[in-house]
Amino acid sequence: MSLLRNTLPKKIRVRPEDDLPPELLQEATTDQIKRLLQGVYAFPIVFVLLGVIGYRTDHPRLFWTFVVPVVVAIVMRVVLALITTRHFLRPALLDWLLPLNILLASGSIGLLLLSSLVFYGLQNWIFLTTLLWSIGAVSGATIAYTPNFRMLLLNLALLLGPTLVKGLFIGGPSGKTFTTMASILCTFQLFQGRRLYKEYWAKLHDRALESARSREFEIAKIAAEAASTAKSQFLANMSHEIRTPMHGILGMAQLAMNAETPQESREYVETLRNSAQGLLHVLSDILDFSKVEAGKLDLENISFALRQSIDEVRNIVLPMALAKKLLLECDVDAEVPDLLSGDPTRLRQVLLNLMGNAIKFTETGSVRLQVTRDLPGAPKGRAALVFRVSDTGIGIPAEQQQLIFEAFAQADSTVTRRFGGTGLGLAICSELVRLMGGAFSVESQPNRGSTFQFTCTFGIARQPVVAPPQIILAVEAPLRIMLVEDNPVNQVLAAKLLRKRGHYVKVASTGLAATQVWEVEEFDLILMDEQMPEMGGIEAFHYIRAREAATGKTKTPVVALTASAMNGDRERFLDLGMDGYLAKPFNAGQLYELIRPFTPVTSTPDLTLSNVGPR
Ligand code: ADP
Repeated sequence: MSLLRNTLPKKIRVRPEDDLPPELLQEATTDQIKRLLQGVYAFPIVFVLLGVIGYRTDHPRLFWTFVVPVVVAIVMRVVLALITTRHFLRPALLDWLLPLNILLASGSIGLLLLSSLVFYGLQNWIFLTTLLWSIGAVSGATIAYTPNFRMLLLNLALLLGPTLVKGLFIGGPSGKTFTTMASILCTFQLFQGRRLYKEYWAKLHDRALESARSREFEIAKIAAEAASTAKSQFLANMSHEIRTPMHGILGMAQLAMNAETPQESREYVETLRNSAQGLLHVLSDILDFSKVEAGKLDLENISFALRQSIDEVRNIVLPMALAKKLLLECDVDAEVPDLLSGDPTRLRQVLLNLMGNAIKFTETGSVRLQVTRDLPGAPKGRAALVFRVSDTGIGIPAEQQQLIFEAFAQADSTVTRRFGGTGLGLAICSELVRLMGGAFSVESQPNRGSTFQFTCTFGIARQPVVAPPQIILAVEAPLRIMLVEDNPVNQVLAAKLLRKRGHYVKVASTGLAATQVWEVEEFDLILMDEQMPEMGGIEAFHYIRAREAATGKTKTPVVALTASAMNGDRERFLDLGMDGYLAKPFNAGQLYELIRPFTPVTSTPDLTLSNVGPR
């Protein structure tokens, strides 16, 4: 609390109520009305007294002229107080009700005091009685008008102002003394009132600040709890998402080991491969998401044929749609240019995620992808495209439609149990689409279906993407490759894949062994793992480069083949001076593609396709 006090603004503004929350203003209004009632009981007593002591008999008309407005003002105060016990009174109402009330009450009493002075003079006891009452009213007003300093001023001016002015005209020692004393009293009351007024609003500001802070704490607490729950749920999902394919992999491997026919074993291995693909998908999502978090997701800019990319997406998801007997439609509007420049891989990733979700969450009906062109949406030379993926599936409740774009979020935890998924896909997609200059939107109705739509801007490419078919087919010459890898399974895998293509492969199990082999044998390429016992890959690489520099030996290309696949790892290896990088797990095609630049090509006039090895 004391901490909060210290942070209070020191300066009180002219209208401190301007920046207070409405509920506190309301409270101040109610308080002001209650304060008006304090001391109201004094009015009848004094009027009775004045009636008894002679003013009423001396000046009956004037007496009642003053009494009636005061009574009206009192009734007004009582009514206001009664109203505020049941209803909220708008603070703005007091802006005119309060001055009116003060005008009636204090104005009348002020004139009564003035008339007493005029009729009876300074030394008369009727005047003194009225004066005493007025002074009491003035001091009571500092409390009654604490919330409203301007009203205090008005009250003081009306109560004592006319009599003070009259006192100036009386002159002489008694007139001067009276005026001086009355002025001192007024000044004192004003100082006192000003101080109370400042304290009053400072306290309300204090409370406003305190409740704003506690609201902030509350919001932060709720957000932290939600984040923590989402992350725990995410970890639980992850564990489930990783264990499921792992279970498939291990189980199928066991079955394959005991298979009785090659056909049976092939089927098991096929399923094993699918499970491993699923696992890889989860890991890629995690990797992509870590890039999103670090703001390091980079896009390529290459030419590609849009319709071909859409076909590829369609071919990947078609088996899933067929298995669920769903109608799958992919339309690309004729207005959409085919040759574009951008990042086809990332575009495919977004479309695959949306189409995959659409199929996953739809039991009957159809899934449709539409691509149209938003003509005014892009500058010259670029095309703004609108991608729309709609389904007739389970839909998403309105309150969860924005949430699902947050990382780890799934519309409903029961959805996870039924359909699986990491909850990262849409978070990654929306970042990718943002990087491609577009934005996501979703329309959905529970049990009727969903439509995910995003826009993207691409360059319009002029060069044809597909190279004209080559008449002369290339045949790769075998390479002498040293595979530096400590893991026996990975050794077998990479060596087999390379030997299948006719390459000579020498395996070294540590960095140290690699350097020793390299000293005595010539290689065209070294595939280097990073983390190995005895000597790591990077150390071995530096050793080899240093020895080459010292001996003048020709440089052997070294390519990193590593499970370090986090953001920035590729750059890390290339910056060291390595000649290439491939993250594990890789497939045969990626491995062959990696070593292709290091392979001398020989031409052959033989045109039969069967001569071309897998790419
Ligand atoms: P996940 O890998 O869990 O599917 P996503 O980020 O791709 O992660 O999707 C998040 C959540 O959004 C899903 O779990 C699901 O609740 C909801 N969702 C996404 N697409 C659809 C859809 N087409 N129909 C219904 N719900 C969907």
